[in-house]
Amino acid sequence: MEKTEKRELLSLTPKELEELLLSLGEPKYRAGQIFPQLHKGLSPGEMTNIGKVTRAKLDAVAFYHLPRVKRKLVSALDGTIKYLFELTDGNCVESVLMHYEHGTTICISTQVGCNMGCKFCASTIGGKVRNLTSGELLGQVIAAGKDSGESIGGVVMMGIGEPLDNFDAVLRFLDLVNRPEGVNIGYRHISLSTCGLVDKIDRLAAQKLPITLSISLHAADDETRSAIMPINKKYSIATLLDACKRYFAATGRRISFEYTLISGKNDSRESAEKLALLLNRSLRTRSETMPIHVNLIPVNEVKESGFQRSGAKAVKAFAAVLEKNGIRATTRRTLGADINASCGQLRKETAATEAALHE
Ligand code: SAH
Repeated sequence: MEKTEKRELLSLTPKELEELLLSLGEPKYRAGQIFPQLHKGLSPGEMTNIGKVTRAKLDAVAFYHLPRVKRKLVSALDGTIKYLFELTDGNCVESVLMHYEHGTTICISTQVGCNMGCKFCASTIGGKVRNLTSGELLGQVIAAGKDSGESIGGVVMMGIGEPLDNFDAVLRFLDLVNRPEGVNIGYRHISLSTCGLVDKIDRLAAQKLPITLSISLHAADDETRSAIMPINKKYSIATLLDACKRYFAATGRRISFEYTLISGKNDSRESAEKLALLLNRSLRTRSETMPIHVNLIPVNEVKESGFQRSGAKAVKAFAAVLEKNGIRATTRRTLGADINASCGQLRKETAATEAALHE
């Protein structure tokens, strides 16, 4: 008989689990017993209502693995929790639990490393190692919920990796995390952040899921954007904003723009005026009134990039110019400032420390 790879239980839909159990000679209703428990963080071995025989049959063809907490940092300032999770093959990713007035949201990683090459970002320094599976995407939500004992009400895909460069797994994850029998997080409480893979934005729009799309814009002209984000050489700002219009037309969901403020690069008053003009002219003409929102993020300084964070005054002035031009802008609250909670940094640090230990 040909050797086939074991299936990952956390990647299966209820229907697929049912088919798998039927193929093992198990009754269909078992899927209804097993699926919710898997999504609560229990392996088949830990389920008291599943017999030994069923478990052995499942173990022969499938596996269950939750990301393992390798490191955990809790912010003394605001309770933000940062996890370094280890996956089955020893690779690590980061997830962050953030507490807001309206509830707890998790920021998850979508790839081990990243190939997008943004100049300010720590996650891309070693390139992409591999995509995460949908079970590993979901596993971060389940494992963080289990470890912290908190009920997680929202997900943002803003951790390590480019979610749209792992399209199929992300789409399957969106389906799984939304299941009422499982984690049950509503699409309206899910955001996906992208550096701007236009072809994939269109594929996502075609799904018509009411999730929030966040665009990492970071500059208002092609020259500045291409210098810090290589993807801009493939898809210009105009091309990207056109895709945003199509996304809004398909989903009716407001688009959020991320703008990282880098001292002396993109944080001047002129840059702010340029950004306001760009967004208003492209997205809010008389015939279109797309609701937009700009999230300003003072850059987290990454040693390798040499970029510096804009001062508080510059950030305030930048936001004021946007508001004056009718664009809603918020400055991201820096959560977990004391635990280096921005993505990519913990994984990189841990890898460097381990490498040093092995030398
Ligand atoms: N690849 C996706 C999601 C991951 S990054 C994307 O590009 O959107 C999540 C957000 O953090 C993005 O807006 C990204 O540009 C931003 N970011 C990355 N490194 C940063 C840093 N050093 N300081 C501030 N924001 C950063």
